[in-house]
Amino acid sequence: MDSRFYSRVCPGLIINIQRSNGQIHEAKVKTVRVDGASVSVEWTEGGTIKGKEIDIKDVITINPELSELPAADLKENFPFQENVSVQKQKRRSTLSKIPAPREVAAATPNVSTPEQRTPAARGRSRMSVIAESQCSLQENEMGVDPCTSTQTRNNSSVPAGRTRTSKLNCVPEASVTNLNGNTEDHLLPGRISSVSPVRRRSNIVKEMEKMKNKREEKRAQISEIRTKRAQEFDSSCPNWEFAKMIKEFRATLDCQPISITDPMEEHRICVCVRKRPLNKQELQKKECDVITVPSKCVLLVHEPKQKVDLTKYLDTQAFRFDFSFDESSSNEMVYRFTARPLVETIFEGGKATCFAYGQTGSGKTHTMGGDFSGRTQNASKGIYAFASQDVFLLLNQPRYRSQELEVYVTFFEIYNGKVFDLLNKKTKLRVLEDGKQQVQVVGLQERQVSCAEDVIRMIEMGTACRTSGQTFANASSSRSHACFQILLRRRGKLLGKFSLVDLAGNERGADTSSADRQTRMEGAEINKSLLALKECIRALGQNKSHTPFRESKLTQVLRDSFIGTNSRTCMIAMISPGMSSCEYTLNTLRYADRVKELSAHNGGGETQNQMETESEEMEGLSPQYNLCKDEEEELSPHMFSFREAMTQISEREEKVVEQLKELKQRLETELDYLLGITEQPDYDLETFVSTAKYFVEESSRNLLSVGETLDALGAAMQLEEQASKQMRRKRP
Ligand code: ADP
Ligand code: MG
Repeated sequence: MDSRFYSRVCPGLIINIQRSNGQIHEAKVKTVRVDGASVSVEWTEGGTIKGKEIDIKDVITINPELSELPAADLKENFPFQENVSVQKQKRRSTLSKIPAPREVAAATPNVSTPEQRTPAARGRSRMSVIAESQCSLQENEMGVDPCTSTQTRNNSSVPAGRTRTSKLNCVPEASVTNLNGNTEDHLLPGRISSVSPVRRRSNIVKEMEKMKNKREEKRAQISEIRTKRAQEFDSSCPNWEFAKMIKEFRATLDCQPISITDPMEEHRICVCVRKRPLNKQELQKKECDVITVPSKCVLLVHEPKQKVDLTKYLDTQAFRFDFSFDESSSNEMVYRFTARPLVETIFEGGKATCFAYGQTGSGKTHTMGGDFSGRTQNASKGIYAFASQDVFLLLNQPRYRSQELEVYVTFFEIYNGKVFDLLNKKTKLRVLEDGKQQVQVVGLQERQVSCAEDVIRMIEMGTACRTSGQTFANASSSRSHACFQILLRRRGKLLGKFSLVDLAGNERGADTSSADRQTRMEGAEINKSLLALKECIRALGQNKSHTPFRESKLTQVLRDSFIGTNSRTCMIAMISPGMSSCEYTLNTLRYADRVKELSAHNGGGETQNQMETESEEMEGLSPQYNLCKDEEEELSPHMFSFREAMTQISEREEKVVEQLKELKQRLETELDYLLGITEQPDYDLETFVSTAKYFVEESSRNLLSVGETLDALGAAMQLEEQASKQMRRKRP
C-alpha cells in the first residue's frame, strides 16, 4: 500500500464507502489493520450503528482524493461537525476546477476545454464540459453523527502516533468519547489526563449538546431548502436534481435541429446519430433525458456524475457526426439524409450499405423496418421501404427506363455466425467462398419485385419470420443481424446492390462473460462481427486494398460492398435518451465516432486523429465499454485462447454437420441399393453379403471420422470453457 495513503487513513477519518447495493455514503474509520490491508468502518443507519470491514484497495478506489490531500489536512478529518465541514470545503476546492453550467454554456457551449476533460473524454470530435451542480445539497454534511458514532477504542490498531497527536491538537477535549459518552482516559496524553474526570465529562456533555443543536439546525435548514427546490421542480422524478441541471443547461442553448429543407450531402462514409424519444415506460418511471441535440451535427450527452463527497454534477460530452437527429425527427427525415443519397449508387453499378447500430431498444428496427403502432410494425414507414420506393421511382425515370432493369430483394438473418433465410421459412444457408474470394450464400431466395407494395409484403413476411415463435420480438432479434437487400439486375447480371442492416444490440457483445455457453458464443460472435464491421468500414474509408472481412459472417457476406471505388456506406447510431442507458449510449457514440474518425474524406488531419483515437483507447476505457475493451483484451492470452477456441468451435461444428449430412445421404442411397438387391426374387446371396459387408465397414469408417470431429469439437469447447473462466476471474 502507498505509505502516504496509509498515513492518511486512520481511525476517526471520515471516508466514503460503497455498499453492496452500489450506494456510496460516508462512514468513519474505526480501526486500521496493523498490516494496512483493511479498515473497519462504522456508520449510522436508521438509528442503529452498522459496520463493516473494507479492503484498503476499495478505500483507495472510492476515495482517490485521500492520496491527494496534503498530510496537514489530516487533522481536519476528525469526527466533529466543524471539522467535517472544513474537510468538505477542502475537498470541494480540490475537485472543483469546474465551472458552473451557466457560465460554461453561456460562454462556449460547444467548445472543447481540454483541461476540464477526463482522459476518457479527450477526442477530436468529442468535447467535454463538466458542470458542477448548482443545486446539489451537501447531504453528507449531516451524515456524520458524533453522538452515535464510535471512536477508536482499540489502541493497538492505531497505525501512527503522529495521527493521534494531530487529532488531539485539533480538538483536545472531546475526540475520544466512546459510544456511551464516556471518555477513554487511557487514550489521553498527560495534559488532558490531569483535568478532573467529572469536569471533563460535563464539558464534553455541554460540547456535545451544542453540537447536537447545531446539527439539528443545519438538518432543518437543508430539509427546508430541499423541499423548496423540490417544489420548484418535479420532486417525484428520482433524479430531479440532474433533470434540473440539464434543463438549466438547455436553457443556455439556442438549439437548431436539422430541418427537411437542409441540403442532402454526398458522403462516401456517412455516420449519423439518432435519438429516440423517451418511451411510455421511461416516462412513467420519470426517467431523466440526458441527451441534447443542439444542431444538425452535434449531440450532447449529459452524463450524471457524483463526486466522492456526493456532490452531483454533469459531465457533458459533445459528439460531432455528419448528421444528428433529435427525438422529433421522423423516419422519413432520417432516411432523407442517410440512405437516400445512396440509392443512386446502385444504378451506377455500385454497392451501398446502411447499418443501424446501437443498444437493444434504441430504435434500430423502428428506423429500418418501420415504426410501430401498438404491436404491429408499419413496414411502409421504414428505411427498407423508403429505399425500395426510391429505387422504383428512379427505375421509372427516362434515363433508366430503357435499361431493362429488374429488382430483386433478399432478406436474411445472421445469428451466431449462421445465415437463415427470412424469405424461406428461416432455412439455414451455407456461405461459400470460391478461390477468387467471391462469397456466395448458397440457396438464398431472391424474390423479384415490381413495385413498392411487393417489397412491403416481403418486408412483412421476413419480419414475421424473424420474430415468429418469440414472445418478445426483441429477445431474439437483439442477438441477430437482419439484412435486407435490394438487388438491381440487368438481364440477370448483377448491376448494383443495396444492403440495409439492422444490427444485433451492441450490448450483447458483453455477454462473453456469461456463465452460459450459448450466450457466451452469441456474445463473442456479435462482438467479433461489430468490431470487424468497423474495421471493414475503416478500410473502405482509407481505400485499403485489404479488407478484414473474413473475421465474421456478417462482413464476409457483405464483402463485395466494402471493396471497389463505387461502394458507399452509412451508419446510423441509435441511442436511447434515458439516464439509465447513459453508459451504453456513450459506448455507441464512441464506436460511431471511430468509424468516421479514420475516414480519408475527413478533411485531412487523419494522422493526428488516429493518434488521438489510440491514446483515447488507452486512457479512457470505461469498464462497460465491451467493444473497445475487447480490442484491448485482444492482447491478453485468455482472450486470445477464447477467440481461438470460438473459431475452432464454429469450424468444427460446421464440419461435423457437413459430415453428418453427407453420411445421411450416402447411407440412404446405399441402403436403398442393398435392400433393393434383396427384393429381387433370385438375388445372389454371396454378392449381397460381400456388398453389405463392404457397406458396413465403409459406414463404420465414416462414423469414426465423425467421432473424431466430435472429439475435436469437444476439446475446443473445453478450451473455450477454461479461457472464459479465466476471463471471468480476471473481471471484477
Ligand atoms: P431496437 O431494434 O434497437 O431493439 P426498436 O426499434 O424495437 O429497438 O425500438 C424499441 C421501442 O422504441 C419500440 O417500441 C419502438 O416503437 C420505440 N421507438 C424506437 N424509436 C422510436 C422513435 N424514433 N419514435 C418513437 N418510438 C420509437
Ligand atoms: Mg430490433
